[in-house]
Amino acid sequence: MIETQLLSGTVVAAAVKEEVAARVVALAKRDKSVGLATVLVGEDPASEVYVRNKRRTAENLGIKSIHHQLPADTSQGEVDDLILRLNEDPAVNGILVQLPLPAGLDGERTVNLIDPTKDADGLHPSNLGKLILGRPGLTPCTPTGVMRILEHYGIEVTGRHAVVIGRSFLVGRPLALLFNQKGVDATVTMAHSRTPNLAAVARAADIVVAAVGVPKLVGPDFVKPGATVIDVGINRTDDGLVGDADFEALQGIAGAMTPVPKGVGPMTVAMLMHNTVTAAEAACSRGNRPSSPVVVER
Ligand code: NAP
Repeated sequence: MIETQLLSGTVVAAAVKEEVAARVVALAKRDKSVGLATVLVGEDPASEVYVRNKRRTAENLGIKSIHHQLPADTSQGEVDDLILRLNEDPAVNGILVQLPLPAGLDGERTVNLIDPTKDADGLHPSNLGKLILGRPGLTPCTPTGVMRILEHYGIEVTGRHAVVIGRSFLVGRPLALLFNQKGVDATVTMAHSRTPNLAAVARAADIVVAAVGVPKLVGPDFVKPGATVIDVGINRTDDGLVGDADFEALQGIAGAMTPVPKGVGPMTVAMLMHNTVTAAEAACSRGNRPSSPVVVER
């Protein structure tokens, strides 16, 4: 009988945050403070909770939280102007626009306006492009958090077969690229809603990642005995928060597995802080100049 190892995101996030706090202190010794700007448009209750959590975490790590709360009827031009101001503000090292934006505002356009060197979420096309090219850049928080969990627990990735279920630009696609980077060297299959025989595809994996949004999709028929299961899903159901994997049913089958909650979730916020301090260090080395001016088409 396999004893399934619990991969605690809370534990790994605490380690990442400790490292971030130490780097913030090191920057302070060079007279450089670290600032994270959060932009929240409208009053979506879930978004408010997410932003509050990010701001609190930043402050706990010595990162200055600079918050901009805008009404839901803010125009695109006003949002654009705010982003451009934040791009130029030397006190701001990371910019996070909480998505989704209210109807009538263009989230993609807004993210594209962020100076890529301040792109705390790692979702600017320039940073996603660097990921494809295998160049250093700020990487998306949730996928980077997944890789960090595997690294922390010493789960072998090199030469292993990873099946990533879900191909969103936020999670699945960048995660497949991270698995595939030179030096990481996993062999990756990216599956999605049109993948035939999904359970059989997943069962071939040494590492199964579910980033789907379907509660308990990944059951015993999806997992080879001893395989690692990383559950990115967060689904609000009548039974509370559940992941995309069936945590109970996979005990004794999976070799190691993240829970939901307290799995990948805490890593997303921790990696946001990690990106912010990385951006601050890079700004410090550049003498605080933005990398290149952002051009806006009006
Ligand atoms: P998304 O943009 O909706 O993408 C979902 C992906 O799953 C799509 O590629 C879709 O395939 C695929 N899919 C849907 N139903 C499927 C099925 N029955 N079988 C196989 N594939 C299926 O979602 P997302 O933003 O990537 O988020 C995925 C989940 O992760 C959600 O539960 C979300 O709440 C959670 N999440 C958690 C964190 C965290 O911090 N833990 C962060 C981000 C997201 P197609 O492309 O073919 O439509």
